[in-house]
Amino acid sequence: MTFNNMLDLAFKTPLYAELYKARGITRNDIKSVDDLRKLPTVSKANLVEDFTKSIGKPEDVFKYHTSSGTSGTPTVVAFTRNDWDIYVKQNAKCLKLIGTTKNDMFYNGTPYGMFFAGLVLHDAAIRIGAKIIPAGNLSSINAHFNLIELFNPTVFIGIPQYLFKMGNVYADMGKDPRDLSFKKAYCLGEPLPNKKRELIEDLFDIEVFCGYGLSEVGAGAECCEKRGFHWPTEDVLVEVLDEQYGKGELTYTALKKTGTLAIRFRSRDLGYIIDEPCSCGEKSPLISYIEERIDDLVKIKGTLMSPYAIEEAMYSVKGVKNYLFVVYDDSGLDTVSIYIEGNGVSEEIIKNVINGVTFITPKHVKLVPKDSIPIIGRKIRRFYDLRRENPLNNTVRKFMKEF
Ligand SMILES: [Zn+2]
Repeated sequence: MTFNNMLDLAFKTPLYAELYKARGITRNDIKSVDDLRKLPTVSKANLVEDFTKSIGKPEDVFKYHTSSGTSGTPTVVAFTRNDWDIYVKQNAKCLKLIGTTKNDMFYNGTPYGMFFAGLVLHDAAIRIGAKIIPAGNLSSINAHFNLIELFNPTVFIGIPQYLFKMGNVYADMGKDPRDLSFKKAYCLGEPLPNKKRELIEDLFDIEVFCGYGLSEVGAGAECCEKRGFHWPTEDVLVEVLDEQYGKGELTYTALKKTGTLAIRFRSRDLGYIIDEPCSCGEKSPLISYIEERIDDLVKIKGTLMSPYAIEEAMYSVKGVKNYLFVVYDDSGLDTVSIYIEGNGVSEEIIKNVINGVTFITPKHVKLVPKDSIPIIGRKIRRFYDLRRENPLNNTVRKFMKEF
């Protein structure tokens, strides 16, 4: 698939054909990669409207996945066999970037299902010749410990919050998470502030690496230098749009896919390109860590803030194991309540730390018993905005009533 083939296909694919026609753009207007910027961008909303309209070669599709749906309706992504092979290759490269080899045994804690990450990482581990324990769908943390103790896997793959929780539960059982066989973790699904990375590394005595990917376009990972994510630009071009204060919306064009086409796809992720070679020797460029998603930014009492900054602040307080930060409307006023699981955490310190990063004084800061904070969503959300419509609102309201 060349750049020209991809564009030929785009101009015949209903979603893009209609968008380009409406703007009077013809195939002849796009002669090189530089001309891409003449094309309009697309968003998740465009893809969600009618998923069939963004598929380049419907006859070649062999499976569908849906994206995480962090911002509402899940997006369908159609894969041809070749698309899947590209994703597996990218993820295999991610596993190599974090220094794993065929001698490793991966413990894949990412769910195997409609979200693509579990399955693609499974295939990627096989591709590098390693062993893999497909543990992503286990329902209890104890079931995980039985498997880990049985097989002695060397690398954990999954959401950092889940790994952190597993370690704390293991310690609460009177055991030492450092005795588990993990040497490394490959964490995905959410940004990981340094403070929390250190907590996880210390808890298990492992090294934690992060990856970043979107089901619509592909994936990249950190290398040993940990400066950002090496991005596979041979497969996926990246542009930074609407730049402000050095950051902009990362916008991707998948060059080789023929299932769901992503051409100038706005990711809603804010970041930048690191324009210097990496000393690890990997030639593909780095994109910065994604600390903010446009959709996750929340206005509280007129101030815009990011859940990442709150996460960073919360885990800077000694003893915090888990928390739930809830924003809600109390008689027309934006109000914040924070619930914390942990040992010896001072409510006063939490109030001060949160006030320091948000300029907001939480109405309540409450220590709650271990394991009382409900697991909210696949990513185990710690930041919750009740002012937004969401089917999970009742779970959060019920929890708040109890405390
Ligand atoms: Zn590197």
